[in-house]
Amino acid sequence: MRRLPAGRRPRLLLRAALAGLLLLLTGGLAACAGTHAAAARPGVSPADAIRNDVLRRLPAAAASVAAVWGAAAQRPVEVVVTPGPGSAGAGEPPGGSPGRPAGDVAAAFTGGPRPRLAINSAAWSTLSPIGRDVVLRHELTHLATGGASGADRNLPDWLVEGAAEWTAWRSEGWADARVAPELTRLVRAHRQPLSLASSGDLSPGASDAAAAYSSAWLAVREIVRRGSASGLVRLVRALEQHPGPVTGAALDSSLRAATGDTLAEVVRRWQLAVRRLA
Ligand SMILES: [Zn+2]
Repeated sequence: MRRLPAGRRPRLLLRAALAGLLLLLTGGLAACAGTHAAAARPGVSPADAIRNDVLRRLPAAAASVAAVWGAAAQRPVEVVVTPGPGSAGAGEPPGGSPGRPAGDVAAAFTGGPRPRLAINSAAWSTLSPIGRDVVLRHELTHLATGGASGADRNLPDWLVEGAAEWTAWRSEGWADARVAPELTRLVRAHRQPLSLASSGDLSPGASDAAAAYSSAWLAVREIVRRGSASGLVRLVRALEQHPGPVTGAALDSSLRAATGDTLAEVVRRWQLAVRRLA
């Protein structure tokens, strides 16, 4: 979900595209889990089964994210299973949730004694195993980066969501068009985006939000291709220290320092990658 302006949600992460998810937290089933030792136990209800499934997948997902972003990804989290809209998983591709905002399924929150991962049970049930792992890696990336502290509030949303998507997908090895089916459809219909995804493009109500997430993923993928994963981490960490919203000039400067790339060059390669989807 698009982040709210700084000051409106100082301790709340909203990376989910599921409007109203916060309201659903009330009455949800909670489980405290260290991501190192979360053992799934047979549940007696669908919510328990989903929670156990999440707990079983969390250690591997956290390890994968930690390999990029550090040990913060392996902090214990609280898993909350909530009911969700029955239509959330409509049209789910067989492979999982490629291109779909992870927030349709899950959201990460802070503010309590430990970060919380809220799982939309209706959407979760529609996902393939890979799709579930991708969603968890996406949300854990937010918790491992400035999302946990609000330090990323000044970063461009395409960079925040793109970094989460890139981290989530990096180990799957899927072809671009398979990861980004909605964006591929737009490109083939001659509706390819001409600029990097805006906050509005990535917002829950945006008509092509899934394509925008894939667009952000491709942009970050191009940053990593030239600058490596460590360059991406340096970039994000540097921008988290930036006072005030990150301008294009500040982003360009930080990109050069962290990866040797320029923003114009990243955009040029991103445009080529988008066109290649056709
Ligand atoms: Zn996200």
